[in-house]
Amino acid sequence: MTSRKNILVAVDTSNEAKQVLESALELGRCFDAKLSLIHVVEPVVTDSSYDLINTVPLEMGDFLLEHAESFLESLKKDLAPDISSHVATGSIKGEILGYAREHEVDLIVVGSHGRHGLALLLGSTANALLHGAPCDLYVVRIKD
Ligand code: AMP
Repeated sequence: MTSRKNILVAVDTSNEAKQVLESALELGRCFDAKLSLIHVVEPVVTDSSYDLINTVPLEMGDFLLEHAESFLESLKKDLAPDISSHVATGSIKGEILGYAREHEVDLIVVGSHGRHGLALLLGSTANALLHGAPCDLYVVRIKD
């Protein structure tokens, strides 16, 4: 049987993240697996041809990272305080797949849709991960 000992759970910071983690925890119990949580902060794009460069504070990046870290901590708090969590910066697909390869993840768990994909059958992240995942992908159907 395919190994399912090392499960990576990718969450955004929406209310639906709890559904994704709860399903992943159920799976983890079935397989007696180690779970890790990842959230990717996409870089804030500024372009000097717009006035934005003057209006986005330099601290914004730090703020987003701190916000992501405290979100993951509060998400884990009641459900799974002991699992490891990781905040990465960069492209969502690239960081999740990079982490999965580096840590020999057996299964990646994501939600069917979130912030990017409310109008889609399958959100853009789940779809993107399907192309290039080094392991199986488990998609949690997000209930509207
Ligand atoms: P979306 O592509 O926004 O429709 O999101 C679908 C699912 O992809 C979410 O439920 C999460 O499981 C995952 N996801 C979306 N954005 C991120 C992110 N920034 N970091 C990690 N996982 C994410």
